Amino acid sequence: MKLYHLSTGPLKVNTYFLVNENNKAIVIDSGENYNLIKKTAKEKGFTLEYALYTHGHFDHAGNAKKLQDDGVKIVISKIDAKKLSNDDNLSKHFGRNFDYLTPDVTFYDGEVLNLCGIEIKALITPGHTDGSACFIVDNNIFSGDTLFLESVGRTDFPSGNRDMLVKSVKRLFALDGDYNVLPGHDDFTTLSHERKYNILNEYD
Ligand SMILES: [Zn+2]
Repeated sequence: MKLYHLSTGPLKVNTYFLVNENNKAIVIDSGENYNLIKKTAKEKGFTLEYALYTHGHFDHAGNAKKLQDDGVKIVISKIDAKKLSNDDNLSKHFGRNFDYLTPDVTFYDGEVLNLCGIEIKALITPGHTDGSACFIVDNNIFSGDTLFLESVGRTDFPSGNRDMLVKSVKRLFALDGDYNVLPGHDDFTTLSHERKYNILNEYD
């Protein structure tokens, strides 16, 4: 499996591509910029089959409808699926267009997805939104807007909840061993670094 990263859109979402040995790919948090996603796929020579979302906010899922129209299967937690067709995706709040859609695949906490032959363990980690998810692939955690470098996600948007976020981050900290943490915005980190230096430690 190959892993590529791009920073996309005005809110600088981290978009990730997981590409298998047959050049079939999954995009995680495809962002707002459709043309950049298409261009990247073309340049790197892969075909997008799935778009997987850590949560339903517009800055992460703003181009999902266009990708779906191209035949890309849209995958999001059962709980955040409804944000792809209501105002909880925050697009109105930020003055953005958002084409509503119904996802093709939804998942629950603890489900192991097999997409393009790549195993992805989905953990529902509510707090930033009620249906936010983190994805574990090999030794990587795609942490969306749940866990950031020495920080955590905002909880002041609709369906956000501070206590749930603290619980979710502690659940990640309790995983065995170390992982690369690849968040939805900003710099990469590791789980061992966050266990020591994350801002949540100050709330203990
Ligand atoms: Zn968000």
